[in-house]
Amino acid sequence: MKINFKNFCSGSLLTGALLCGVQTACTTTSMESQYASLPAYNGEDLELTVNDNGTHFRLWSPQAEAARVYLYNTDSNSVATDSLEMTRDENGTWVASAPGQLYGMFYTFRINHNGKWLDETPGVWAKAAGTNGRRAAIIDFAKTNPEGWSEDRGPVVNNINDVIIYEMHHRDFSVHASSGIENKGKFLALTEQGTRSVLGDKTGIDHLKELGITHIHILPSYDYNSVDETQLASNQYNWGYDPYNYNTPEGSYSTNPANPVARVVEMKQMVKALHDAGIGVIMDVVYNHTANNDDSNFSLTAPGYYYRHREDGSYSDASGCGNETASERQQMRNYIVNSVKYWAQEYHIDGFRFDLMAIHDTETMNEVSAELKKINPSIFVYGEGWTAGDSPLPVERRALKENVSKMPQVAVFSDDIRDAIKGHYSNAADCGFATGKPGNEETVKIGIVASTAHPQVDYSKGNNSKFAYAAAPTQIINYVSCHDDLTLTDKLHKSMTDANEADMMRAARLAQTIVFTSQGTPFMFAGEEIFRDKKGVHNSYKSPDSINAIDWTLKQKNAEQFEYYRQLIALRKAHPAFRMTTTEQVAKHIVFDSVEGENLISYSIVDNANGDAWTEIKLVFNGSKEAREANVAEGEWTIIAQDGKLNAEGMGTTNGGKLEVAPCSALILARVK
Ligand code: CA
Repeated sequence: MKINFKNFCSGSLLTGALLCGVQTACTTTSMESQYASLPAYNGEDLELTVNDNGTHFRLWSPQAEAARVYLYNTDSNSVATDSLEMTRDENGTWVASAPGQLYGMFYTFRINHNGKWLDETPGVWAKAAGTNGRRAAIIDFAKTNPEGWSEDRGPVVNNINDVIIYEMHHRDFSVHASSGIENKGKFLALTEQGTRSVLGDKTGIDHLKELGITHIHILPSYDYNSVDETQLASNQYNWGYDPYNYNTPEGSYSTNPANPVARVVEMKQMVKALHDAGIGVIMDVVYNHTANNDDSNFSLTAPGYYYRHREDGSYSDASGCGNETASERQQMRNYIVNSVKYWAQEYHIDGFRFDLMAIHDTETMNEVSAELKKINPSIFVYGEGWTAGDSPLPVERRALKENVSKMPQVAVFSDDIRDAIKGHYSNAADCGFATGKPGNEETVKIGIVASTAHPQVDYSKGNNSKFAYAAAPTQIINYVSCHDDLTLTDKLHKSMTDANEADMMRAARLAQTIVFTSQGTPFMFAGEEIFRDKKGVHNSYKSPDSINAIDWTLKQKNAEQFEYYRQLIALRKAHPAFRMTTTEQVAKHIVFDSVEGENLISYSIVDNANGDAWTEIKLVFNGSKEAREANVAEGEWTIIAQDGKLNAEGMGTTNGGKLEVAPCSALILARVK
């Protein structure tokens, strides 16, 4: 995520973070013991339950002196029809009930804290809400399910590295005039079948099926703060890393934010349509901070409790967005765990991507992954193993990529492979292995073995991390770009100064070939398969559609690029050798060749790795501007990739020996015996 702050990669934070760990022990002790003494409540009936006996409210607010519920007929601009005084109940909660099932009504809470009535809030557990989420809504969830919902299942995932992740924003994907999609920028865009671009190419869900990805990762789709849902005609854009209601879908992605049922129904329809197409849905979740501080829903229900603070009482800010939450406190940990469980159960979500995950503690992340696996073993969890600023949470407790071995069912993004392939994210002009800059070879190899221990990889030469931090290749997400920073296309434009468009597309193919053949889980940013750009804007979190939207006419213009990506994905899916699950397998089956010179990597995946039909796969990556020579064992090889082209089924044969590897390209060969 990024609002107005640059993400640091974790390595650059270690020194400051360690200092902070020392400070913490002597500063926040009294505050911590005060919060630790508060009772937590983990029941499923928090805030709202509707049953045959009526409508029931239960608010967790252990330090409140009084609490009320207000009931409304509309989502805004009306006075309360009723208010209910709440009474103290178990474990820091307050309760009130009203007779009857108040479906169609809206509600807010208000607490008295230190003798003062705070502002109204929809609470922290609103599962439905009206316009801009300011009032929670009482709806009948039994009536929100699409036809066939009880039989709806996402794809079965045995291991996370069997999936191929496609990261998208709802507006980017469908809003462009060329998309041929009716419900532009809406959840429903991903339910439309048979859509075609103005030039006749498949778009929408048909495009995803054609490309072959297994899961989409949708940017924040809970109710966020920045887009004014009363002004949708003005086409506001935001990535959505400014959480408001964590358990309600975002209103601007529905066809009618004022109708609290619409966003729930339409998001479920989206999930159902994707599942019917065999595609899983991953949610980007941002529990690490909230859009507001003192007037957030957390602050208005339990002031102070959900956040970490500095010695002077100010909000600590590891998110770079003004505050950070405190997952180590029991009620916050419960909250994160119960919230993802809710999305998994109510919306059939197949995976979760944790923003700035290292703001959370490893214990919370382990509980998250364990509880989700109980619901559905196919669900997987990954996140950004870094923070965007310093934190009072001690380094050893943070869910950092360097601590991922303490979280066996969690994966982290590899900034190692990302920066080594294309150049450092923070310096637009910097090149990487695929664009001819020497010195990145060992870090690319770290990526190839998914940051696991390998006898031929020297971690001391790693650019970012200096040790094999992953306990298994299933703990690594490989990528060369995402919504943050320059798109791959823009990065190539800014760093390949003397190259033409064809050269840049060739570099993109080499970059993604390294990602998709590496151990770990591949991740791509939507539209890269047709060489989309964002007009050079690196932090487009609130840029207009003209920057962010994918122009689908590029699919025809860059048809060869699309076909290459399609073949690359098909190759990975057909060959378990690219998807080994243990460090021991990777160490045994991946053999690097010694090569002369820089910007050249050659290795084999040997001995029918992971049950692969191919005896041996030879991969040679030439990141230089000159043709290079590879020494390949003599024998009968099928050519899979050569000179910027790739065909998963093969395109001719060779007998090995000394083979030329064209500039900026991958040579991939396979042999069956
Ligand atoms: Ca919203």
